[in-house]
Amino acid sequence: MLLNDPSLLRQQCYINGQWCDANSKETVAITNPATGAVIACVPVMGQAETQAAIAAAEAALPAWRALTAKERGAKLRRWFELLNENSDDLALLMTSEQGKPLTEAKGEVTYAASFIEWFAEEAKRIYGDTIPGHQGDKRIMVIKQPVGVTAAITPWNFPAAMITRKAAPALAAGCTMVVKPAPQTPFTALALAVLAERAGIPAGVFSVITGDAIAIGNEMCTNPIVRKLSFTGSTNVGIKLMAQCAPTLKKLSLELGGNAPFIVFDDANIDAAVEGAMIAKYRNAGQTCVCANRIYVQAGVYDEFAEKLSMAVAKLKVGEGIIAGVTTGPLINAAAVEKVQSHLEDAIKKGATVLAGGKVHELGGNFFEPTVLTNADKSMRVAREETFGPLAPLFKFNDVDDVIKQANDTEFGLAAYFYGRDISLVWKVAESLEYGMVGVNTGLISTEVAPFGGMKSSGLGREGSKYGIEEYLEIKYICMSV
Ligand code: ADP
Repeated sequence: MLLNDPSLLRQQCYINGQWCDANSKETVAITNPATGAVIACVPVMGQAETQAAIAAAEAALPAWRALTAKERGAKLRRWFELLNENSDDLALLMTSEQGKPLTEAKGEVTYAASFIEWFAEEAKRIYGDTIPGHQGDKRIMVIKQPVGVTAAITPWNFPAAMITRKAAPALAAGCTMVVKPAPQTPFTALALAVLAERAGIPAGVFSVITGDAIAIGNEMCTNPIVRKLSFTGSTNVGIKLMAQCAPTLKKLSLELGGNAPFIVFDDANIDAAVEGAMIAKYRNAGQTCVCANRIYVQAGVYDEFAEKLSMAVAKLKVGEGIIAGVTTGPLINAAAVEKVQSHLEDAIKKGATVLAGGKVHELGGNFFEPTVLTNADKSMRVAREETFGPLAPLFKFNDVDDVIKQANDTEFGLAAYFYGRDISLVWKVAESLEYGMVGVNTGLISTEVAPFGGMKSSGLGREGSKYGIEEYLEIKYICMSV
């Protein structure tokens, strides 16, 4: 890997402003999901190192919290600029460890940086309130203060953005944070730490540790110094972490699994719907928690939509993410390929028809053909489970109320999309979908300015926007007798 700045590739963790090895000196090799080649190694840390990082975050807290919002914002602003200045290198690191096409990786760096920019500015707007007193001599004020030491556990599908979406609001609010990135994608996280150090973010304010997920996670969840945990990942792990956090009553933000419906009504602009579906389904090879998982198409436009979608899918270029023109990289690992394969086989067995793709790609390894299935129905696994791969099952429907019912018939409630033009239909559907985020006539809804998060088993809390910083603030009410 040829980085402009080779010092961005770190094989040590960043704790209390120091680059360190594991106490045991043990390391683990990280491989490129496109080629299987070893990229480099990272330390295997555990409970003791996590404890040290948390202690450093506690020690750093008073001085960081005491800075003015403008001072904290200036350091975050510098961090934001450094992400942009180093975006080519960050993208290359990300593509190497995660697989996504380089253009998508660059897009993610911009997206990741945007959270830092947003919250650098938002730090200044942590307003309180004054409330008319309940008695003649009483004056009531509300102030907001940082919750304190925080911890974050992040997934591999967005190796940069899932970290900045948590760290930026935390640091802007005056909290300190210890991050455990996904085991598959540590290098992007460690490069972010290099840039945080260069931006002048003080020692202990932002630490990154790699290694034994269970040991690190257990310490983060049980250590009473940590006042809040922010997690993005699977619902099963989220539930475990929530239970582990219960005895110390930590605040929690959980961004968990999704099973997004994507509905196309008869009056939709079909070309726009196809374009939206391509983004909502095939971005990151279908490996995002807001990816369309079930595509419901009204009977009148079903055949047209299916044909146009298949034509668009045929134009996707599968390959190694660093190759120019590639639109679809590998899946993260063999288990991910097996899951797509098993969802596909189950659907075919129950009557679905393959319209495009339909097998492991001829490149082999972790590459899978972008696939379109017709005749999907609710008996199939694709209707219930998140596929997390480039497989689009098309369900046919007739009735609006019926499709709303089907769309909501899942334990998840993260993102939903629909295409239609009748204004009363648009409002009815938007208000009826039990999802934290609804895209109407668009397949791309993520932005730092809007609240990202889910209902039901998709989690707790929101990230991004003015709501995102509230997750890192305590409300304190001061009652004064005069
Ligand atoms: P995925 O299946 O997408 O990898 P996971 O929920 O397993 O999603 O992983 C998301 C993050 O949670 C990763 O950083 C992973 O290391 C971490 N993780 C997984 N299991 C645990 C656990 N028991 N305790 C703490 N962290 C965990």
